[in-house]
Amino acid sequence: MIVAIDGPAGAGKSTVARLLAKRLNFLYIDTGAMYRAITLKALEEGVDFKDHAALIDMADDTRIELKNNPDGSIVIRLDDRGVSRDIRSPRVTQFVSDLAKIKGLRQIMLGMQRKMGANGNAVLEGRDIGTVVFPEAEHKFYIDAEFKERVNRRYKELRQTGEDVELKGLEDDLSRRDKIDSSRDCAPLKKAADAIRIDTTNMSIEEVVEELLRQVSLKKGIRTAGLPQDKSSR
Ligand code: C5P
Repeated sequence: MIVAIDGPAGAGKSTVARLLAKRLNFLYIDTGAMYRAITLKALEEGVDFKDHAALIDMADDTRIELKNNPDGSIVIRLDDRGVSRDIRSPRVTQFVSDLAKIKGLRQIMLGMQRKMGANGNAVLEGRDIGTVVFPEAEHKFYIDAEFKERVNRRYKELRQTGEDVELKGLEDDLSRRDKIDSSRDCAPLKKAADAIRIDTTNMSIEEVVEELLRQVSLKKGIRTAGLPQDKSSR
């Protein structure tokens, strides 16, 4: 079973998707981390971002692995080295959306993502999961939040990891990425027609996870330990 979670940066998708996967005992696939890993490699190798053919060749020759740990955290490996921290650097964040616009490169990522998800039950999180990567997913969610709230969440998150960030810089980064991600020709960020939109502006992470679990159980009639009961059937 595939659960597709899409939405803009800073809406809380990653945390929620990770916790949901843990509760369902599914594989968690962070597709943003994959685009970030490719961007890190391109920056390290000094590939010209205008040279799409070189970037596509490089991606074709790259191995990305996402390992789920029992505690719910994930380890991202790029060509056999751990890059979980490096892919979150401001420099990678600055360039990732430019690289994610390239059609041939997305095609390669699409192949990797479908292969990872095809192995069984998975929660995939990104921008085009419900529209392009797994349009037949059993469950589709579009997680959103007001812009100001998304900026604040990202600010707190980065501050917690010891990052010295400023609100203004984060605002600029999120609005620039929102714009590029939703206006690109290939697989733009958008809600799939059959996805459930959840506005998380006034919700806690736990509330969002509970709501997703409720929706999953509603649709499938699944009764798993810890799943909230379907109120409508009481
Ligand atoms: O999710 P995260 O913010 O880490 O994603 C980083 C970037 O990767 C996004 O801003 C977007 O440009 C790109 N991305 C994408 N398609 C996905 C996942 C991420 O284009 N499925």
